[in-house]
Amino acid sequence: MSETLVIRSRRMVLPSGETQAAASVRDNRIVGLTDYDAPAEADREVDLGDLPLLPGLVDAHVHVNEPGRTEWEGFASATRAALAGGITTICDMPLNSMPVTTTVDALRAKAAAAAGQCAVDVAFWGGAVPGNGPELGPLLDAGVLGFKCFLIDSGLADFPPLSRDELRAAMKSLADSGAPMLVHAEDPAEVTVPTGASYDAFVASRPTVAERRAIEMVIGAAASSGARAHIVHLAAGDCAALIGAARAAGVSLTAETCPHYLFFAAEEVPPGHTEFKCCPPIRYAVNREALWRALGDGAIDGVVSDHSPCPPELKGLPDGDFRTAWGGISSLQIGPSVVWSVARRRGYTLGDLARWMSEFPAELAGLPNKGRIAVGADADFVAFDPDASFTVRGAELLHRHPATPYEGRTLVGRAVRTWLGGVEVTPSDPPRGRLLARGGGLLEL
Ligand SMILES: [Zn+2]
Repeated sequence: MSETLVIRSRRMVLPSGETQAAASVRDNRIVGLTDYDAPAEADREVDLGDLPLLPGLVDAHVHVNEPGRTEWEGFASATRAALAGGITTICDMPLNSMPVTTTVDALRAKAAAAAGQCAVDVAFWGGAVPGNGPELGPLLDAGVLGFKCFLIDSGLADFPPLSRDELRAAMKSLADSGAPMLVHAEDPAEVTVPTGASYDAFVASRPTVAERRAIEMVIGAAASSGARAHIVHLAAGDCAALIGAARAAGVSLTAETCPHYLFFAAEEVPPGHTEFKCCPPIRYAVNREALWRALGDGAIDGVVSDHSPCPPELKGLPDGDFRTAWGGISSLQIGPSVVWSVARRRGYTLGDLARWMSEFPAELAGLPNKGRIAVGADADFVAFDPDASFTVRGAELLHRHPATPYEGRTLVGRAVRTWLGGVEVTPSDPPRGRLLARGGGLLEL
């Protein structure tokens, strides 16, 4: 006989907004939503009172790096960190691991590496690189969510960028599937070598116009192919109007930004602190303002971590050089708290947080059972205390490496209890995450 559960909260965050409700769960799915105090028969009952209940968060942009660079981050550490942050699904990026996920064999290697050690559900993006056009269809058939590509050097020889024509050809082949092409949008023609070791010189070397020119190229490819394009880690707030205009003209285009672009500003990056280095860079405060505005008016659809750690030696810490340090910010576990810390001050609601960090990423990833508290959806929940404050200590986070630009920062909002498929889980429990394919079924290779 199947186990049943009822969770009650006076602040349940549904797609329609926050309300008092009770969710009934059977066979890992939500089977009913009723009034908070409606009588119910269940094997277990949880009453959260005034503690808000959100859908389990979905992080659609995580570099796990396993197999091949497990010393940077791995499935066990990344998924435990995600769980501790209230994230119940992560989508792994196709690069930084070895092999990169550009063939079905590589996807098999990934899935084999991940199997049995994931504390949350995991799904996989494929990679589009020059010459792997014939692999895209088989990768989709095998269960990848869609594809990621670069238009500029990724920093890794095994993941080269696409040219304009290669981008168009790859997107054309995706058009019928509805799967998105995720694009790292910086135009190499607008990027220069930094003139010095300072953070300002690094930002100046990767200006907003580099993002703009690349996004224009993506819009052209999306318009001509009819495929869906998605701009990853948008850092240039002034590109939001361009994205909005393309969408208004009927182009299938979405965009994400990241917690670090919404929280930090270039003015406050201390010299030598290369844990702040990522590409595109964290820009100036006026730009951060534009990003918040774009998130508020919907030009930016969602927020994902782009968690991309590496060993501290590759950052050159403690006294790093922004010209040579490896780029990538470590934040998976604290992303929701980072975003909520600022969002609440700006008058946004937990409903906004759930839309940005659960509903949209799930939709992007083609995981219809994720991202919302609704009848038929997977019973993934996080009880999130919106007033709990804590100080970030990298050494206490469950990421493989402690270096994080949030070290010592006080954040507000914290995941306090988490359910995966209707089962309450903690990072120290045996892992019960599954490997998922596009559409939400199990990945079977
Ligand atoms: Zn990334």
